[in-house]
Amino acid sequence: MQKPNTRLAGQTCIVTGGSSGIGAAVAMAIGQEGANVVVNYHSDAESAEQIAHEISKHNLCGDAIPFKCDVSKEDQVVDMFQKAINHFGTVDICIPNAGIQRDFPLHEMPLKEWQFVIDVNLTGQFLCAREAIREFLRRGPRPDVSASLGKIIHMSSVHEVIPWAGHANYAASKGGLVMLMQSICQQYAPQKVRCNSIAPGAIKTPINQEVWSDPESLEKLYDLIPYKRIGIPDDIGSVAAWLASDESEYINGTTIFVDGGMTCYPGFTENG
Ligand code: NAD
Repeated sequence: MQKPNTRLAGQTCIVTGGSSGIGAAVAMAIGQEGANVVVNYHSDAESAEQIAHEISKHNLCGDAIPFKCDVSKEDQVVDMFQKAINHFGTVDICIPNAGIQRDFPLHEMPLKEWQFVIDVNLTGQFLCAREAIREFLRRGPRPDVSASLGKIIHMSSVHEVIPWAGHANYAASKGGLVMLMQSICQQYAPQKVRCNSIAPGAIKTPINQEVWSDPESLEKLYDLIPYKRIGIPDDIGSVAAWLASDESEYINGTTIFVDGGMTCYPGFTENG
């Protein structure tokens, strides 16, 4: 880990799906900034414990704990927030990041696979955002640590704007996040809640391992990325830490694309 900054000292953050990939990098980046971190995990307790341990070891101002919870289950999300509040006093930053893919051509997609993806990727993010806002409103401002009442950063995807054949459940869940995020901003910005999304492009994590582990499909992927490299989880971690900090205070109700230019549709380059 690099030398810690303290842009988030005195604050507490819940990162869901924090035991791997983007969530792990986000948890580390937030911890490096001095915040307490709840590293949520679904099944990989060992990795979550390791990440929490790593954060605690290097965090000059805060601490980290692993916490098991299925984000698609209301009672478990409510319990996670309650335990986090009991342990750290409050929650200042919520980063609902957990997400899954279950890929099928639409005509072959079983309802349960549609529902599963919506439950985790969209309902899970709703449940976390709702509990975060309840806590922000209950607790009131903390001007000593942040100009905002609280911050929510949804982990979306370029597929909130790029259609994705064979992945309609995933694309629909991310498209739904845009309206969830903006509706939250519209309603709670007057109370100084900031709600934004990060939309990663192709980032090297377990979710897309079959693409980057095969040299041929990796080469094909570069056709979609003007910047000609696959992203790494730290590309997202650093943006999340900044977006959670007061340096980005006036950013509200928007999506930050972190995609090497993927949403500039490079397929059109030679078709002018
Ligand atoms: P990942 O598979 O490493 O991470 C997903 C995490 O979510 C895992 O830790 C998993 O255990 C957790 N999870 C799954 N179901 C859960 C549940 N019910 N409750 C709690 N946790 C659960 O993949 P990743 O790439 O790090 O994905 C993180 C987020 O980034 C996802 O929302 C994904 O859609 C988004 N994203 C990833 C990419 C990419 O290229 N990797 C691109 C765009 C968006």
